[in-house]
Amino acid sequence: MTANTSRREFLQISSGFLATSAIVGQVPFLGYAPNAEAAPVADKIVPTTCELCFWRCGVDAHVKDGKVFKLTGQMDHPLSNGHLCPRGTGGIGLLYDPDRLRTPLIRKTDADGTQKFVEASWEEAIALIAKKYEEMTAANEADKIVFFSHGFGSSFFNRLFAAYGILNHAHPSYAQCRGAREEAFGMTFGHAVGSPEGLDIANSEYLVLIGSHLGENMHNTAVQDFSEAVSRGCKIIAVDPRFSVAASKAERWLPIKASTDLALLRAWIRILIEEELYDHEFVKANCIGLEELRAGVRDATPEATFAITGISVEDILAVGRDLGRYGSKALVHPGRHVSWYGDDTQRSRAIAILNALLGNYRMPGGLIHQTKKFGVGTPYKFTKKEGGHHYKSRFPLASQTPANEVVDETKKGNFKSWFVYGTNLVQTLGHVDDTIEAIKALDFLVVIDVLPMEITGYADVVLPEVTYLERYDDLDDRVYRRPYVALRQPAVPPLKGLNAKPGHEIAKLLAQAWKLDPGLFPPIEEYLDNRLKTVGSSLKQMSQVGVMVKEDPDIYRKPGEQLRFNTPTGKIELSSTRLKAAGFDGVPQYTSHPENPPGYLRLIYGRAPNHTFGRTSNNRFLGELLSENELWINRITALDLGLVDQEYVFLINQEGKKSSSKVRLKLTERIRPDAVYLVHGFGHTDPRLKWAFHRGVSANEMITQLTVDPIMGSTGMKNNFVTFAR
Ligand code: SF4
Repeated sequence: MTANTSRREFLQISSGFLATSAIVGQVPFLGYAPNAEAAPVADKIVPTTCELCFWRCGVDAHVKDGKVFKLTGQMDHPLSNGHLCPRGTGGIGLLYDPDRLRTPLIRKTDADGTQKFVEASWEEAIALIAKKYEEMTAANEADKIVFFSHGFGSSFFNRLFAAYGILNHAHPSYAQCRGAREEAFGMTFGHAVGSPEGLDIANSEYLVLIGSHLGENMHNTAVQDFSEAVSRGCKIIAVDPRFSVAASKAERWLPIKASTDLALLRAWIRILIEEELYDHEFVKANCIGLEELRAGVRDATPEATFAITGISVEDILAVGRDLGRYGSKALVHPGRHVSWYGDDTQRSRAIAILNALLGNYRMPGGLIHQTKKFGVGTPYKFTKKEGGHHYKSRFPLASQTPANEVVDETKKGNFKSWFVYGTNLVQTLGHVDDTIEAIKALDFLVVIDVLPMEITGYADVVLPEVTYLERYDDLDDRVYRRPYVALRQPAVPPLKGLNAKPGHEIAKLLAQAWKLDPGLFPPIEEYLDNRLKTVGSSLKQMSQVGVMVKEDPDIYRKPGEQLRFNTPTGKIELSSTRLKAAGFDGVPQYTSHPENPPGYLRLIYGRAPNHTFGRTSNNRFLGELLSENELWINRITALDLGLVDQEYVFLINQEGKKSSSKVRLKLTERIRPDAVYLVHGFGHTDPRLKWAFHRGVSANEMITQLTVDPIMGSTGMKNNFVTFAR
């Protein structure tokens, strides 16, 4: 099928379809003055799990008169330790957001061709989805449906689609975020870094952050660990074109030329090997490929690396030698969002190799392997439909489907329907026009969300979900240094005036419509209770305590412990057999990236501690903390260009794309002269997001040049350059 770009119009949902006064009337902070004397006393405190980002801290919801008025960190939860991050405390702003979706919507086309949304009952909306997918299945087109998801609530839809036979699944968190890191560590150590990351930062004595702006990138426990390390005197090295908050805590700030990080990492590998500073005993016992590695980085001299990166020979040598000196107590942080320049797997490989040479694997202050889950079981047996078709990525070492590959294949007509849970793809994937072109080529788009995010405007069916503070999800059985199981439960019932449902109910309605096994979705409380019984607990007990934690005595390796790694050779692979077999370099090599066109500055982007990209920018509480982003620009560069501090400008990128809104300039010495920096997630273009609409500018909108990693499809988004217009 060819792309039909005129058929699917973006629709604004009229204000009548959004929650307005019904919600505003319930906003508790309007009734409670924020001073200590007037602070209410809770009728009850409900332990549950945060979802303002995907870290999933334990949160205590303080409830009075049926309203949540405060959120605090659960004391016993290993991810919160009694604290929430600034975003997590603002979850009330999502619960009582006056712009929430209120009822299911169906796109209708009038006789004159006018498209509009009409309110629908759940029965109508579910029947339409069920019928459409039954028709596609009957036509052998179930393999043309893709399920996109982000967030823990999607687990019920995984189960639903596996039973129905829809097996194509894409997460933007793979190719747009952590995927290259996970593949690279898998190739090297045989397992991914994981989320929450298996890093013993709290006990590190020497921590290299390369593009990792911990503290601004706010994952609660990671930042707690970072604070602990700083307060204990851990030496921090911050490699970043921008003087980040982490750089302000650092012994050295290395203002690297953007896109050259891999060159610097190779130089440090070379120093460790050539100066015999690596952990000989560990490498001999556990690694293969040292000689190939030695030969593969021979050209990465400090002098050559200075010419590429702009980092002085003295700094390169000093950090390389310090890494060797601190050895297993040093850690090179693997980062989290790593889809930068298209060489992301090899850059992450270089980080993995450095850590291997340091011998910090399962050592205090190093990498830790978090395998031992709490182990909650299930008495239920859910079956998958046999014989379904899994889309096979064109990238040879991709273990998941890269989201941008789905966009490409959709434009070619190879996918015809997307079912999107909780991810605003229009503001997530880079190259917005491409994403919209793909969406317009779809026959059928279903979107589940809490808010009228941009992608809902393109949907055929919009299903409103309740927030994490109003619903159960499945049990969270993970490990962060200690295995734990945690409960997400409703702090309050779904708000009155909304016709929204929790994900498990939506999935169940679809299962019923498709006449799937009725046992697929038992009543949620019964289901959770029966699962908890497998570990000697119950829903009643967990609804009071929120979390159960075990100890893991094996978090560090013991002297003389024999290690085996899940790689083809059973060893840590300094030269990767999988990469070589697929025709790539076994040892990371550096190739240069495009330079700034004359008059343009490289656009780099990152996060603010108050927001989770575009997901929270409509949150009035968090908006009070940060209501718009600013463009950081070097003061000298700005003055040369005639730009003034705090003035608002449009951005225009190297392909002529102009931003939809203006952004305020922040003139600063804290960034290299050849780059500018934005916090991403702002610049919403949908007026239904009444708070966020046109506040700040969208970094995603400026990202039209995607550099795709040939190994696994990571979609590099930092190869774009901007200039300015008033
Ligand atoms: Fe919530 Fe913050 Fe934890 Fe994320 S890091 S789950 S926003 S408290």
